[in-house]
Amino acid sequence: MNAIATAHPSAALTHQQRSLLLATLAFIFFTLLPQFWDNDGDLDSLANAMSYATLALGLNIVVGFAGLLDLGYAAFFAIGAYYYGIFTSFQVMPPWSESWAPLATIGLVEKINQGGPDLVHFTLSFWIALPTGGLVAALFGVLFGLPVLRLRGDYLAIVTLGFGEIVQICARNLDWLTNGAAGLNGVQGPKLFGYRFGVHAEPYYYVGLVLVAFLVFVSFRLRGSRIGRAWMAIREDETAASAMGVNLVHYKLLAFAMGAAFAGMTGVFFIAKLQTATPEMFNSAVSSMLLVMVVLGGMGSVWGVVIGAVLLQMMQTWFLPQMSVWLHDIGKMTGSPMLQNVDMVQWTQLIFGVILVLMMLFRREGLVPAVRKVAPLTMEQQTAHVVRGGFQGLDKIGRWTPGTGVALDIKDVVVKFGGLVALNKVSLQVPEGGVVAVIGPNGSGKSTLFNVITGLVAADSGSITFQGVELLGLAPHQVLENGVARTFQNIRLFANLTVLENVLIGEHARLTTGPFGAVIRPPSVVKEESRATEWAMNIIALFGNRLTPRWDQPVTALSYANRRRVEIARAIASRPKILLLDEPTAGMNPAESLELAEQIKSLHDLGLTILLIEHKLDVVTRLADNVIVLDHGDKIAEGLPDVVRKDEEVLRAYLGRAGGH
Ligand code: ADP
Ligand code: MG
Repeated sequence: MNAIATAHPSAALTHQQRSLLLATLAFIFFTLLPQFWDNDGDLDSLANAMSYATLALGLNIVVGFAGLLDLGYAAFFAIGAYYYGIFTSFQVMPPWSESWAPLATIGLVEKINQGGPDLVHFTLSFWIALPTGGLVAALFGVLFGLPVLRLRGDYLAIVTLGFGEIVQICARNLDWLTNGAAGLNGVQGPKLFGYRFGVHAEPYYYVGLVLVAFLVFVSFRLRGSRIGRAWMAIREDETAASAMGVNLVHYKLLAFAMGAAFAGMTGVFFIAKLQTATPEMFNSAVSSMLLVMVVLGGMGSVWGVVIGAVLLQMMQTWFLPQMSVWLHDIGKMTGSPMLQNVDMVQWTQLIFGVILVLMMLFRREGLVPAVRKVAPLTMEQQTAHVVRGGFQGLDKIGRWTPGTGVALDIKDVVVKFGGLVALNKVSLQVPEGGVVAVIGPNGSGKSTLFNVITGLVAADSGSITFQGVELLGLAPHQVLENGVARTFQNIRLFANLTVLENVLIGEHARLTTGPFGAVIRPPSVVKEESRATEWAMNIIALFGNRLTPRWDQPVTALSYANRRRVEIARAIASRPKILLLDEPTAGMNPAESLELAEQIKSLHDLGLTILLIEHKLDVVTRLADNVIVLDHGDKIAEGLPDVVRKDEEVLRAYLGRAGGH
């Protein structure tokens, strides 16, 4: 018992406290560093390293959290940079008119005269540009993301590559706006209370440090929230994520916008420090370097990408030049002209390539893996008393109060895949609070039936209503919001997430925290999260000792039967009104099957409506009030389990097929 008590989520605090302590120490160290390391050049390259760290943090949201491969991320860096550059340099100067006067009084523009008519000079303050640069880049992230985010994987990567090129070409060719290849000069440095930052590295170093600290904080807050869980669900399995209530378009756009905002802010910072902006600062080599930083540090790992960025920046600005010097010295000693002339900095791209290959071969999870290693269960936990039959602690999750009449009403549904008719005018009804089983040989259309109910497959005709709401035409996440939750025949869990995280994602649609709430974490959000965790732990505890001691393990570490249990727990966590189970006992031994059947029965006893696909007739007989038999997409029989079992046509469908093999 004790072992389980210490395994409760509150135990995770020690881990959090430890990383908070480390972070504070690191922050203090870097705050004091300029006091004893007063080398302007070194501080400058550290400030650069910090801008790469913030870029990598942003890219990490897109690639690491949400799993969207973005090969043109530097575009958003460029947008932030040019935004600040254009609004502080002397590049764009429209003629002055009195309508500019209000902006002049708040210091955004000034009237200047270069011999000729009066002109407007933009004088956007760095401190305003920093957040608004983030907003502008985020806006571009949304604009660009909207048409392409429906693309998956490779296609998305190619489009982002194109976007990166387009932005760079615009920067090169829109001379009136960007001064073309020559770039913007005379970008203003920041001022703070009358103090001009000028060209010294130290003030920029501090701004960079605060920016890194802020974005690390934001990253952690997002990752540990409903938002971060939705992103990681998309990364692990898009289909399952949407079936569990995650609005794919919304959350992908949010990831893009958030990543772009980080890059936009960094662009403002970088350009203010450099006081010039040219197109090649944002070429595709920068995007790929940032990807290398993320991969080296560990995709999805907040500290990892910061460390990856700093390491690679140090390699470029310190280690490679230093190595060239050493090689020159060796060359002089050995009289080798080749060594005397070698310039290691030219090898940077090659080294990046080698790093990528090595990381993929030997350490795919990066230097600081995002997935924590969890110690395997002790022998005591493994062999802990397992309760068979029923569910435990059912009183904790409360009763369902089914209405009366028909809950799910399927009428004449037709689904065709090309020439194959997977469902041919199938009609069936599930009464409120009932258990209906669908049986039939392999390939008879059972899973397709679930897919069409949950919006994963489009119907050619027919209608499916649930409690009066038409489900056909809804996206999967909307179907779940209407109270329809499902499991998959070939288990679709979020593999790299823990049992608890998987179950929490099931609750996604029932929670309300948005991105700002996730970052600021007001008391209402804290309360919502702790209630959500408690509910998830209660659901996990239904399965007795099978899952509870493993709540913090990634689901890949679980046995097959336990994965099925997690999937059912995840579906129940969404507080469904009807539960769709696709062959829940597949791959379980007879004892486990019976145990699960008992558990499903106790859900039914609590009032939950259930639609079940099942092969094992003893399970069906035990549970179902009504059985539907499908064969080749046709409904060939319907009735009480015992009656259907003896039906001639049903026997032929099963035995005939079996004989044909
Ligand atoms: P069951 O779950 O009863 O074993 P399915 O519903 O998975 O059967 O499949 C019914 C038929 O539809 C099969 O012939 C299968 O090959 C076909 N099918 C299922 N999904 C698709 C799809 N996405 N594209 C094309 N054919 C499909
Ligand atoms: Mg199936």
